[in-house]
Amino acid sequence: MPPTPHVLVLGGTTEARELAEALAGRPGVRVTTSLAGRVARPGALPGDVRVGGFGGADKLADWLRRQHVDALVDATHPFAAAITANAARAAAATGVPAVVLRRPGWQPGPGDRWHPVPSLAAAAGLLPSLGRRVFLTTGRLGLAAFAHLADLHFVVRSVEPPDPPMPPRTEVLLARGPFTVAGETSLLREHRVDVLVTKDSGGEATAAKLTAARDLGLPVVVVRRPAVPEGVPVVAGVAQALRWLDLAVS
Ligand code: NAP
Repeated sequence: MPPTPHVLVLGGTTEARELAEALAGRPGVRVTTSLAGRVARPGALPGDVRVGGFGGADKLADWLRRQHVDALVDATHPFAAAITANAARAAAATGVPAVVLRRPGWQPGPGDRWHPVPSLAAAAGLLPSLGRRVFLTTGRLGLAAFAHLADLHFVVRSVEPPDPPMPPRTEVLLARGPFTVAGETSLLREHRVDVLVTKDSGGEATAAKLTAARDLGLPVVVVRRPAVPEGVPVVAGVAQALRWLDLAVS
């Protein structure tokens, strides 16, 4: 075992924060969390923090070597496909053990009116047949896919203000989860929403909108997750990631 194992956590999620907190509490472990830098004021994190892209898979591999990283946990968002692909390539190139921490996706239940689609473009293609007033919660970076839908009214919720292009009839609500079913229900009612669009992000913090949509009988367009690169082990939560790390750096 290395004297002070260095764990790199690719972050930007609740799970990444929880993992960094758990690792920082372990004597003799060095943890570095890497953030993309998309959010202006991320909350404080224990351990070391680095911010900004690495410059691609090869540069990430250089970083792993230079910083003597002993294990890598990719705890990025399920839709952050580029960094996940880069991490898999960098880990393979350096031999650094790596795991993907992916929270489970959401599952429809009785009463749900879900329409699964493979992409934001497919969601945009389906929307005009489902409603006129859309609650769009797919993040501020994907709005261009909906920009041509001039006849629909969009209520967009994001943490940071979105940049154009976006649909001409867009109302922006700046908010960060967690959200409650009561809050989501009154938001959907107040804005007279008749269809919801979401990525299958999974997790508790943003699941309340799905319950609210079910209670109100609204259709939900659910964008499916990109696949995890082949050959990389996947764990579903922080406890499993810690168990994987115990084996990887022992
Ligand atoms: P992405 O498309 O997979 O990544 C684009 C580029 O951003 C990557 O190639 C990498 O640049 C850089 N990058 C992304 N995550 C990074 C990290 N944790 N540390 C250092 N560089 C990172 O990612 P994204 O979808 O824009 O998401 C960016 C961040 O926001 C991620 O950390 C993710 O966990 C978080 N997030 C994403 C979503 C979402 O819906 N996509 C939602 C919530 C939070 P280089 O190639 O230059 O290294």
